[in-house]
Amino acid sequence: MSGRGELFVVSAPSGAGKSTLVARLTAALPDLVFSVSWTTRAPRPGEEDGVAYHFTDEATFHEKIAGGEMLEWAEVHGRLYGTGRAETLAALDRGRDMILDIDVQGAAQVRASGLPAVFVFILPPDYETLVRRLEGRATETNASLERRLANACVEAPQSRLFDYVVVNDDLDAAAADLIAIVRSARAGRARRAERLEAILATFPAPARDGGH
Ligand code: 5GP
Repeated sequence: MSGRGELFVVSAPSGAGKSTLVARLTAALPDLVFSVSWTTRAPRPGEEDGVAYHFTDEATFHEKIAGGEMLEWAEVHGRLYGTGRAETLAALDRGRDMILDIDVQGAAQVRASGLPAVFVFILPPDYETLVRRLEGRATETNASLERRLANACVEAPQSRLFDYVVVNDDLDAAAADLIAIVRSARAGRARRAERLEAILATFPAPARDGGH
């Protein structure tokens, strides 16, 4: 690997299957670094601090914002979430490819920052499917379901601003699409030029008047 790492930003409305797809992606491409966000929400059962998230309190979170330590941050479903600037930029500088699983407000901030990134949006095949998936989640209260659906109606149209849209109708097909997007971005862009030069440097110079 050489050069700066590639940054992938993945967003979706709640219930589109983003977490499952991102888990499939990082399992398929283990050298892709999952960016561990900061959040003020409470850990869910089984969530370890520093793995799914860095769990923190509101005061600490606000200090980090004030100190410019967040690359992006947003309030999602009433809680604060943000991506640490220093750790993300350091990993990219080391040539690691990174994936940010963040909401559309955060994605807009990364886009506005001018940091080169590949933006991927995950959509359900239609609204009814999203409703059914969210209703099927035992964890949702009615109020939470209503809020997630209302947010989805604001978030879904923002898919127009993303480089790629993955439609999660069939999970295997959607995972394959997401993996293909990352592979294709890795083969392209600036990285290709650097790698290409390194490979070409191993070829002996052609003989001056040698034909084919
Ligand atoms: P959950 O609480 O279910 O893990 O995540 C709720 C939402 O917050 C998801 O849409 C997730 O993508 C988003 N999220 C997680 N981390 C971040 C972050 O660092 N920044 C932003 N803007 N959103 C995040």
